[in-house]
Amino acid sequence: MAALRRIARERGGWWHAYVCPAHGVELEHGDLLAGVFPEGGARCAHGCRVDSEAVRGAWLVLSHQAWARRLRVLAHRGERAEAVERLGEYAGLYAELAADRHGEAQGWMLRGRLFHQALTDAIWAVNVGHAVITLAEKETGDLAAVLPLLEALEQAALEARDVLTGQGQLASNYTAWLNAAGVAAGRAAAAVRGTSWEGAGCWLEGGHGLYAHLRVAVADDGWEWEGSTYYHGFVLRAALLALRSTAPSALPADVVGVLAGMTDVLAAVATPGGVLPALHDGPYRRDALGREWLELIALAQQSVPSDALEAVADRVRAELGDADDALDRELGGWFAGPPLPRRAAAAPVSVFPSTGYAVLRAAGIHALVDFGPHGGSHGHRDKLSLYLYGDTTAWQPDPGQVPYAHPDFRDLYTSTAAHPAFRVDGAEQAECAGALTAADAVSVTAEATEAYEGVRAVRRVAVGPCYLVDLLTVEVTGREAPRITAQLRPGTALDVQVQAAGPVRTTWYGDETLHGWHTWSAEVPVRPFTVPGPGPADDPQRTRTRVDFTAEAAHVVFASVYQAASAGPAVSDVRLDGTELTVELADGSIAHYRTEG
Ligand SMILES: [Zn+2]
Ligand SMILES: [Zn+2]
Repeated sequence: MAALRRIARERGGWWHAYVCPAHGVELEHGDLLAGVFPEGGARCAHGCRVDSEAVRGAWLVLSHQAWARRLRVLAHRGERAEAVERLGEYAGLYAELAADRHGEAQGWMLRGRLFHQALTDAIWAVNVGHAVITLAEKETGDLAAVLPLLEALEQAALEARDVLTGQGQLASNYTAWLNAAGVAAGRAAAAVRGTSWEGAGCWLEGGHGLYAHLRVAVADDGWEWEGSTYYHGFVLRAALLALRSTAPSALPADVVGVLAGMTDVLAAVATPGGVLPALHDGPYRRDALGREWLELIALAQQSVPSDALEAVADRVRAELGDADDALDRELGGWFAGPPLPRRAAAAPVSVFPSTGYAVLRAAGIHALVDFGPHGGSHGHRDKLSLYLYGDTTAWQPDPGQVPYAHPDFRDLYTSTAAHPAFRVDGAEQAECAGALTAADAVSVTAEATEAYEGVRAVRRVAVGPCYLVDLLTVEVTGREAPRITAQLRPGTALDVQVQAAGPVRTTWYGDETLHGWHTWSAEVPVRPFTVPGPGPADDPQRTRTRVDFTAEAAHVVFASVYQAASAGPAVSDVRLDGTELTVELADGSIAHYRTEG
């Protein structure tokens, strides 16, 4: 018997509250289309059942969002009768429940109507609007009842955008979604009326429209200013959704540049096997996120196409399995003209100096160095982190973030302690910006001078012939007996072996295997300390082997060499002599790397 499906008849809250207070995992969704909160409470993967006003409100967000997406799927698949009926139901419900702004939103929120946040309303409105646009392509006679809803959604988006831009927040990622909602609702209403859409001035071209937003929200290196993979994709997806029925070739040249640059960022940070690192805030892994990436890629491939994104789509589909509703494969013909030229593949070393990332590709190793501005409320205290991936293995990832309503785990995943960064005297880094000091075809050097008072840290990462070299130099002035720590934060199983002589050895497991050699300035005593800690944020209860190399010194160089098991000749010796690192291979070849002194 098919499960009963109904639309919930209550307003939603804030989806980030859908988290287990004990374990920090996102709660299980159950059947969102059933429209009824799980009996006995929402399930946690660790056995809890959670029931509170906030969790119920969060579940309602997920349920209404799942319905809005479902409406698009129904519209594309020609299941018109159900789509039209449900839209009519929502039109009635919205008029009844959402006439005023939501009274239970938190003080910092831009208040919504159907949900706590206007952002949530906008995301919902985008899906509702596009469902109607798709239906109206065939006929419009049965859609008149939806017009008041569409008009109300456009008006709500405009009012929320006025509040936001009145606060000087044109660059906020909310602006992208409010504009996308204005376009979708406005275009849908025009389609139902059989008139041409007149909203481009307001929603795309005007002073608070999408183009103006993109011009201030995206740095010249292509990154959305927050430096988060998630929010970067969030804004790009909103933009591509908003550009339905426009011709890519007719967009303003600088807007095309922004869209292409944003696509290039994703292509550069993605591993060859299609893993997108979860830099700064954003879920580490989540089915809904996978579906969002597939939608983004389907639209990007029709406008600013990129080969690298195809690997991401394949990877996401494999991870989603049955949770893939295949909406992305219904989106052909999204734009009113052909795609722009295909984007060039990323170079072996890609540098994003404004937002502060560098990507280096060694044999079997995909590495990122994180050194940029903090990134606003979505930033992490992660200066000079080194993230290490194989094709499909997250050996040392940015650990991502839990749903935001869990204050303790949220702070933990923002912390320096959770990142493969450096610490001084065991303290957290300040929220600060590092800087790129050098880059060439095989290496990058970045420094952080504001993470701790009186501390200068420099990380140089270089691509060798069949390995990766990492040289971290930290210099402390004006502190009594300072302690300097270099951190390994694996996302996979890790073996650590102290040797009688020579470097500490590490072995990193996963789909692929990585070998590490870790040494330091000869005159400095360093304690390697191995302790279990929380792994990536999709399940904070999963422990991983954290390693802290702590030096009791005012100046130290930590030198590591990494080699994928698939690469060779094998590294046979790693030595640090003063300011020179020597790497010897099994075939007798030798290479030298200078430290920062
Ligand atoms: Zn739990
Ligand atoms: Zn992070």
